[in-house]
Amino acid sequence: MLKRVLVANRGEVALRVMAACRELDVETVAVCSTADRRALHAQAADRAVCIGPAPAERSYLDVAAIIEAARLSGADAVHPGYGFLAESADLAEACAARGIVFVGPPPAVLRLFGDKVAARAAMRRAGLPVLPGAEVSVESPAAVHDAAQSLGYPVIVKARGGGGGRGMRIVPDAASLEPAWRTAQREAQSAFGDSRLYLERYLAAARHIEFQVLVDGAGTSLSLGERECTIQRRHQKLLEESPSPAVDEPTRRDLGARIARAARAVGYRNAGTFEFLRDEGGAFHFIEVNARLQVEHPVTEMVTGVDIVKEQLRIAAGQELPGGGASAPRGHAIECRVNAEHPETFRPSPGTIAAFTLQGGTGPGVRIDTDLRAGGVVTPHYDSLVAKVVAHGRDRGEAIARMRRALTMTVIAGIDTTIPLHLRILSDPDFLAGRVSTDFLERFASGSRAAAGLPAGRGG
Ligand code: ADP
Repeated sequence: MLKRVLVANRGEVALRVMAACRELDVETVAVCSTADRRALHAQAADRAVCIGPAPAERSYLDVAAIIEAARLSGADAVHPGYGFLAESADLAEACAARGIVFVGPPPAVLRLFGDKVAARAAMRRAGLPVLPGAEVSVESPAAVHDAAQSLGYPVIVKARGGGGGRGMRIVPDAASLEPAWRTAQREAQSAFGDSRLYLERYLAAARHIEFQVLVDGAGTSLSLGERECTIQRRHQKLLEESPSPAVDEPTRRDLGARIARAARAVGYRNAGTFEFLRDEGGAFHFIEVNARLQVEHPVTEMVTGVDIVKEQLRIAAGQELPGGGASAPRGHAIECRVNAEHPETFRPSPGTIAAFTLQGGTGPGVRIDTDLRAGGVVTPHYDSLVAKVVAHGRDRGEAIARMRRALTMTVIAGIDTTIPLHLRILSDPDFLAGRVSTDFLERFASGSRAAAGLPAGRGG
């Protein structure tokens, strides 16, 4: 097994990785910025190394600083969590050059899936149904118009090196194409340092459904089923569940097997998520791969009983997966992302936590992953996710009831959070019936604004 793992992240995911390390008797090293010296993750590790000032570019995103911290602390592996450098081929390569194990896929796989155009082409070759799009990098305005025309409007403009829902614009008609292209280009350049874009057919009323797979060093895979992540704000997930109400067992098995084959075809290793949009007719269309642990992995853990982070560490240490194949879901799990944000405008709400209680975790079936504590500070420097409340039940109804219990019994004072929004979603008739699509929250928010006498269309 590994001896000492450096966790190149912060917040709840850093604690999550450390929890898995503790169970495996692996020592932990935290890294922190100067803004995080008093953060829980820095205190929870066996030792902590301060790697730079608050701006992420100079700390959590600084490959050289992470490698230096690993060297100084004698870590034999680096787990990147999600976000920050989780999909950085540069970090994976720098680790390899130093003889440090990177807990994730090999650099070549990270490079492939970091380029969404290349990823689409590779997955089509590997036999997955890829959403129609323009795979060539379209640069001239005339070529962009031609490509959009042949796809048919509406189309969506996306960043080739994108992530986190940024650098994305829906284009309803030809007249809107050029301004949308220019805005997306600017956004992509500032967010990813890469202004290259591509086009996809825009699927209205789609569901976002993704499949979790594990692959060990020998190429043996384990399919852990799907997650439904259709409830989103600004193309970012807010509430996730497993299994999806829209996937039956034959579809799960069939797609799971095809994905496992595609993963093996490109030399995939460790944990990965293959994301699809499901159209109104029930067809699945591949959009991208997330070559890392995902925020919403707990719902899969709840229904499969597999500890995904421990499996990541075991695979990285060269251990083999038991048997391989697929794991059928038991019961139903839901995750609500608690963000430090205003629940209607989504404006960030940093501040000091005046009070914090975890009584929502009282009773069976609830898990709360968080680095919050009373007196702790939510800084404005990083992602607004502060807690994940996960509920498991025998069926979807029981999971929803447990989630409502957990959220109403959890108190977070001093900052705004998305909890009130989650409670409204959890009692919405369409949500309860499983009738959802990625524009759910826009309709929902404008409805509630109209009811409250507010103008529609802000936030959403
Ligand atoms: P990112 O990597 O930035 O998260 P994704 O490609 O995963 O981008 O897409 C994020 C979300 O954006 C999807 O879940 C969906 O809601 C929306 N989206 C992306 N592509 C399309 C598309 N072609 N049609 C409709 N919605 C899309």
